[in-house]
Amino acid sequence: MNVWGYWKCPYCGETVRADHKDCPKCGTSIPNDVKFFMDPTKPIEYVDKEQENDEANWFCSYCRTQNPAQAEVCENCGAARSEALGTYQTEPEPIRPEPKPRRERERNYKPKRKYGKMILLFALIAFSIVVYWFFKPVTHVGEVTGFRWEQEIGVEVYNTYRESSWNVPSGGSVVSSNREIRSYRQVLDHYEYKTKKVAKKVKDGYDVKYKDLGNGQFKEVKTPRYKTVYEEKKVKEPVYRQEPIYDTKYYYNIDKWKETNVLRTSADDHEPKWAETDLPTNVQSPKYGDKRQGSRRGKYWAIVKDEKGNTNEVEYSYDQWKNIKVGDKITYKTFRFSDDPL
Ligand SMILES: [Zn+2]
Ligand SMILES: [Zn+2]
Repeated sequence: MNVWGYWKCPYCGETVRADHKDCPKCGTSIPNDVKFFMDPTKPIEYVDKEQENDEANWFCSYCRTQNPAQAEVCENCGAARSEALGTYQTEPEPIRPEPKPRRERERNYKPKRKYGKMILLFALIAFSIVVYWFFKPVTHVGEVTGFRWEQEIGVEVYNTYRESSWNVPSGGSVVSSNREIRSYRQVLDHYEYKTKKVAKKVKDGYDVKYKDLGNGQFKEVKTPRYKTVYEEKKVKEPVYRQEPIYDTKYYYNIDKWKETNVLRTSADDHEPKWAETDLPTNVQSPKYGDKRQGSRRGKYWAIVKDEKGNTNEVEYSYDQWKNIKVGDKITYKTFRFSDDPL
């Protein structure tokens, strides 16, 4: 809703409601550079619905008279609106700058609290940037100065092994079985009643502000104000207990190959070798105690000297590693706070 603003008579100082174009006390006309204001000492007076006007006055470029937005020509000199100097809000320059009445200055004074949120927001953004910067991987350029490798061959033994499982694999012969706990599930045991303090926002009236519409009227802007109240609330909370789920566990004997040992080799060079072994890679119709070679695994590193002269080990797959040469420049990433390659 719109309310009437006021202007101050420049001659006698009377505060005049904006729908009057002349001072009722001395007859002085509303000045061209009028600035409307709200007078807190006067009651709020609502504008009749049919008189409501949300558009700002425009300035005549010839006589600087303020004209209502609805006027196509200047009410004073007849100049066209299309040549307007600007509107109330975009006034080019005041003809006679006049300090606002003290009372109005105080009314428009906004508490500094508004900046608090901004500062907090900036702090949050700055903090995020620092965290991002801190955890962002850093790319290093290093020179390969050497190599290291580790390789191993699993040694498998054929035997009868005792194992247990919830299912018997093929080839397993069951020795015994037992009901055992396989997992747990949460079961509702009982309810507990607790009193909790619950914060609740309740309406606590309105904050009313008046926005200068630039034509003598002000828009009443109401924003609801809230306050936090605490209520004691009884809440019912479920209490669970863990209930075991039983299943049959089988203990069985099974004849199979199983890794029991490894043959390991390693060196700081570029020529990986597998351990020498007489063990066969496979045995047809094995007997208990027979051994064979199992799987082969390897790890391969390049020794890299970084910009600061520190050396780091960067791990590669074998296929990449074998093509790297001493003196190669390589890039790798680390965290800012660590020398360990990612
Ligand atoms: Zn007057
Ligand atoms: Zn004019």
